[in-house]
Amino acid sequence: MSSVAENITRVLGELPTGVRLVAVSKFHPVEKLREAYAAGQRRFGESRVQELLAKEPQMPRDVEWHFIGHLQTNKVRQLIGKTSLIESVDSERLLDLIDKESERVGVVTRVLMQVHVAMEETKSGFLPDELLEYFRDRRFENLKATHICGVMGMASNTDDMQRVKRDFAAIADIYGKIREMTPDLRGFDTLSMGMSHDWRLAVAEGSNLVRIGTSIFGEREY
Ligand SMILES: *Cc1c(COP(=O)(O)O)cnc(C)c1O
Repeated sequence: MSSVAENITRVLGELPTGVRLVAVSKFHPVEKLREAYAAGQRRFGESRVQELLAKEPQMPRDVEWHFIGHLQTNKVRQLIGKTSLIESVDSERLLDLIDKESERVGVVTRVLMQVHVAMEETKSGFLPDELLEYFRDRRFENLKATHICGVMGMASNTDDMQRVKRDFAAIADIYGKIREMTPDLRGFDTLSMGMSHDWRLAVAEGSNLVRIGTSIFGEREY
């Protein structure tokens, strides 16, 4: 089996310039994250608040933590100030709470809006029309301490590569429409799509941030 360092080198070697890598370290022990850090990786993705909070103090200060899981509203307070990017904002209620809490503690929180296009009902996110309406109505102008930096999405979990490609194209289309609608929204430049098994298709459809776990750290033990 190849090492974490070798895996990172291989993935980075395949990523086109301009596409950034989040090493998804959820369910993996801190030792593995340290191996990735030693290989130069600074951006890590976690999907559970408690796990991120447990790992954060054990890693160097310059790690950028991306939160990528469903964020429960009662966990927002603990997470604010710990992340470089919350990629998984899936409702306006959650966004407003993040904003309120960020303002209260005096930080600006960077987020992505998660959009739901996949077949699975279990996946979360804004529906495409809901998300477009949010930006068309310019409701982001009410935010005081939150910066929306782009869109995150997942393709359907299927072997049907045509479907996966269509899902990524749909997410990229929404991202493009928002950018057209709001040319004044500065720093709205991130399209996060693609995981271990489908990132090549995602990049082909315009992703500039991929979230890769298994191909770097191996299988997760839940
Ligand atoms: C776990 C997870 C990933 C990484 O998945 P791999 O298949 O291990 O690469 C990416 N994105 C999200 C939102 C995840 O929850």
